Amino acid sequence: MDASKQYLMHTYKRFPIILRKGRGMKVWDSNGKEYLDFVGGIAVNNLGHCHSKVVIALQKQAQRLLHVSNLYHIEPQIELAKLLVKHSFADKVFFCNSGAEANEAAIKLTRKYAKDHLSHDRYEIITAFGSFHGRTLATLSASGQEKLQKGFEPLVPGFKHVPFNDINALKGAITKHTCAVMMEPIQGEAGIKMPDMDYLKEVRKVCDEYRLLFILDEVQTGMGRTGKLFAYEHFGIEPDIMSLAKGLGGGVAIGAMLAKDSVAASFQPGSHAATFGGNPLACAAAKAAMETLLEDGFILDNCERMSKYLINRLEGIKKDYPSLVAGVRGLGLMIGMEMTTTCGPIVNLCLEEGVLINCIGGNVLRFTPALTLTEKEVDRLIEVLEDVFEKIS
Ligand SMILES: *Cc1c(COP(=O)(O)O)cnc(C)c1O
Repeated sequence: MDASKQYLMHTYKRFPIILRKGRGMKVWDSNGKEYLDFVGGIAVNNLGHCHSKVVIALQKQAQRLLHVSNLYHIEPQIELAKLLVKHSFADKVFFCNSGAEANEAAIKLTRKYAKDHLSHDRYEIITAFGSFHGRTLATLSASGQEKLQKGFEPLVPGFKHVPFNDINALKGAITKHTCAVMMEPIQGEAGIKMPDMDYLKEVRKVCDEYRLLFILDEVQTGMGRTGKLFAYEHFGIEPDIMSLAKGLGGGVAIGAMLAKDSVAASFQPGSHAATFGGNPLACAAAKAAMETLLEDGFILDNCERMSKYLINRLEGIKKDYPSLVAGVRGLGLMIGMEMTTTCGPIVNLCLEEGVLINCIGGNVLRFTPALTLTEKEVDRLIEVLEDVFEKIS
């Protein structure tokens, strides 16, 4: 741990444990201590740690081919794209390596599409306050959080922010320069902020009316996290462009930007690229993960069932500790519990008791466990939370 401090840039506030092994919902540290993992790599490990189907696919692919170049066709990339297209609104996929990169690709495609089809001075993208779209300069500029942007000015121009879940504010922000709206269906990093049920439908309507592209950032909400493969399915809409990453690779780094043919056509050879984008190893893992997720629908059903159970149990704690808990919200297994106090100490005490949870925005406990979660695991979490709340109240 001293070496970690000495050799790694201090970009993360890390907990004082070294994690070494994981299986399903469990991880073990270097002392052999076991933890129940309700962080799940922040909505990455949707199938839990080291799912056997993903591991086997990786082993097989590692023996065959690790990397060539996008100068050539590779089977795992084609097969994964086909699977994504079959199960989404999209016709075409561009692969990259992270959520930020997927959003960068979405922003570039949007600007290019606007140049091709609208006019030369339509480049502005409206995003929401509180949103998080990544840490590269453009995605940071798109994100509606000043605290992340501070010190990195000048920001990339062409983004305008409006309050989330306020359709009139959105309408009011549209100018002759606007070409798109970019949003998370549920704001993850802002503290699991849910929109009203008809908000995204209204955004879609406004986009159609003003000829704006609707970009959905499903980096966190996608791949079954909310109980459906993509969160937009809950809201009865389809975007024009969607970004994916976190849960896509079953634990392996991969990002994707999906679009309808009419939009995707604005990318031509030379428009955009990524050396490692859609490499054989990542695509093999993602394909195995997605096939597993869709297999007989068990995992998505389980996600919805466990969502109800977990929210119900958390509501129970809220009743027992009304002065500590302000509210419980979420969709599928993307659940936030807003506290009336800072939640750092709660996270530390849970860690001591062998449960990993995450704190966002200073006062929201976030739960993004594996979608294979069981009632017994929820019960254990509740037991520990009650214990911890008893201690601090
Ligand atoms: C995590 C996240 C990103 C950034 O993904 P990286 O892989 O860290 O670049 C972008 N958008 C949303 C909604 C996210 O949750």
